[in-house]
Amino acid sequence: MAAAASPQSQTVGESNLNNTHASLMNYNRTALTKTILKPIQLIHGEPTVRFTFKELDEYAVEEGLHQAVIMKLSYGAPSLQELRKLIPKQLVIKGRCLIGSLAARHLLIRCDLYEDFCSVLSKQFGYLQFNGEQHLFRNFPWTQNFNPKEETSKALAWVSLLDLPPNLFARRPLLSIASAIGKSIAIDKATQDRTRPSTARVKVILDLMDKHPKRVRMHFLDEQSGKLVEHYQQVVFDNLPFYYTYCKHQGHEDDDCRLMIQKNKRGEGNQDDIRQQGDKTNNLEQLQGDARDFLNAKKKKKKN
Ligand SMILES: [Zn+2]
Repeated sequence: MAAAASPQSQTVGESNLNNTHASLMNYNRTALTKTILKPIQLIHGEPTVRFTFKELDEYAVEEGLHQAVIMKLSYGAPSLQELRKLIPKQLVIKGRCLIGSLAARHLLIRCDLYEDFCSVLSKQFGYLQFNGEQHLFRNFPWTQNFNPKEETSKALAWVSLLDLPPNLFARRPLLSIASAIGKSIAIDKATQDRTRPSTARVKVILDLMDKHPKRVRMHFLDEQSGKLVEHYQQVVFDNLPFYYTYCKHQGHEDDDCRLMIQKNKRGEGNQDDIRQQGDKTNNLEQLQGDARDFLNAKKKKKKN
């Protein structure tokens, strides 16, 4: 009697030439050969697997993380079981969503519908009602380098394009212009309905640490004469959240930072920290322009 080949005993990539169980083996072979494994390299004696950023993005899509939101909960939040019932209802999630605990007080919410992902992420903070109590939550886009101790510098922002020529309200030019600023996730209703031809508004995911352009240059080309017309499109950000690199949290600056206040109380702060507290208006303006340069300059000043 011929021994039946066990699918489990095969190693990945090994071809099976046994025709006795054709259908099972064909199925098995497809399953096995489809997954081309990344090579393991020994680098300084350590087994190492290498992935490109492009591949990481592809895996994120495969795992539904391109439509995932991190919900940060306050202390004393309801149990995961309760949250799984509450969140879809209270955040009005229409499609299927997967809710799991990623770290203490951090939920990972994967939305099947892109529409749900945009609407959940748009609720940058809010309260969940449970047993007559309100529980604060804040939402952030999921990022590859998620760390529960730090908040991502990725945030959602509305961008207004003032006096954009109305023909450029069409989807392709509008989203193309917005891509100079961030990843567009929504176009506001008045823009879509063409009821406010003076300003187009797009919601984007951007990095608060990036330099945010105040304008986008556009070139209009007359292909017949070769004439090039240059136009600068003004970009206005609505309520761009702050990102404070010291504590790696969104929503406040140094003078409102609990971590910094505690540090100063312990006497670890220096005179610069205290002096800069009277400087808020100036800081606000600069942070809205280029947070990274400004914060780096500040860091350097502190070191000197
Ligand atoms: Zn802080």
